[in-house]
Amino acid sequence: MELECKVQTYDWGKRGINSTVATLMKFSNLDFTLDVEKPYAELWMGTHPNGPSYVKRLNISLEEYIKENSEVLGENVEQMFGQHLPFLFKVLSVNKALSIQAHPNKEKARELHQQYPGIYKDANHKPELAIALTPFEALCGFRPIKEIQEFLKALPELRATIGEEKVEKFIVTAKDDGADPKHDEDNSLKTCFHSLMTCDPSLVAFQLRKLLDRLTNLDESTRKSLHADLLERLYRDYPGDVGCFGIYFFNFIMMQPGEAIYLGPNEPHAYLSGDCIECMACSDNVVRAGLTPKLKDVPTLVDMLTYICEPVSAKRFEPCREDEYTEVFRPPVPDFAVAKITIPAGKPSYNIIPRSTASILIIISGKGEIGPSKTVLYRGTVTFIPADEEIHMTVLCGCHPMIMFQAFVNV
Ligand SMILES: [Zn+2]
Repeated sequence: MELECKVQTYDWGKRGINSTVATLMKFSNLDFTLDVEKPYAELWMGTHPNGPSYVKRLNISLEEYIKENSEVLGENVEQMFGQHLPFLFKVLSVNKALSIQAHPNKEKARELHQQYPGIYKDANHKPELAIALTPFEALCGFRPIKEIQEFLKALPELRATIGEEKVEKFIVTAKDDGADPKHDEDNSLKTCFHSLMTCDPSLVAFQLRKLLDRLTNLDESTRKSLHADLLERLYRDYPGDVGCFGIYFFNFIMMQPGEAIYLGPNEPHAYLSGDCIECMACSDNVVRAGLTPKLKDVPTLVDMLTYICEPVSAKRFEPCREDEYTEVFRPPVPDFAVAKITIPAGKPSYNIIPRSTASILIIISGKGEIGPSKTVLYRGTVTFIPADEEIHMTVLCGCHPMIMFQAFVNV
């Protein structure tokens, strides 16, 4: 069943035809008018109330359809999650940084929702998986202790923002003790991070300006080691924002198409640029603390973060291969998994691996035909597939590989 999906036009999205979200919409909906000025940030596929999908043929919401036909979810799903699709599937097109954020675990999400229902509208956790469609940049997780210490030594502006005493304590006491991953046992990293995030904004802006001025006069290799280009870019988009300093605390990761990161509860992250497929538990719970004009909840964020210091290599998330054409990313939560299916050029057809749960399939490139009705699927088509459905895909244009992603429940 083909779905009609909601586009979110957040300010950080890529504009016009530069946005993968916009071009996917354009290809699959004849009546979609593409506005070159608009930021097409996210495509939402699922039942979340902030952007529900509709079943095109029946003209009802996917949520309603599932309620009336709950057997489509698959047996285990209904037992575990009730009559709901437990995941939200997305495409993101990021032009400038999204906020530095983390998502609470289930317990904390319930607590925040109870205390501040106006801000935290969901009581659900939100682990998330991002798979790059184009080269994709992000910040994720705390850097190894040694790296943060080296930056603090090299950057008097950052030290002045945090406070020399707290920095000194972190440099002297926090050591890589061979444990893997490194935890911030005496909380000196947390103290520094808290101090940075709660610093007087005028002092932050002053020290950032001072650092940027100094960076312009440094030689290329020093500038590179201090991520000068990235800092300048973030500052241009978010002048004076304390989140700009975040690049010295968090790992910088550059993913190539097909590479992925998984973000468990309480892991700090910020997407910086590029297009990706994203899947998460059905929730919109975000605790933000920088690089955003939206509400920042610094105390909650600083308190809930995991202060686990690991190299960037530990953040990459590897898929398992199921057959020649399908690899699957299975995070350690039951809410969702994502398969990447690539039918190479010249292969005339493929039987998509049946799933025991409901799933959502999006075509990223190529054109194919399914079922006795010979329904044609092409770039941007989003389909809802009931549990255990067998799908034979006949490729219609064999000169390019056909690439699609399928989200299902990980039970
Ligand atoms: Zn996130």
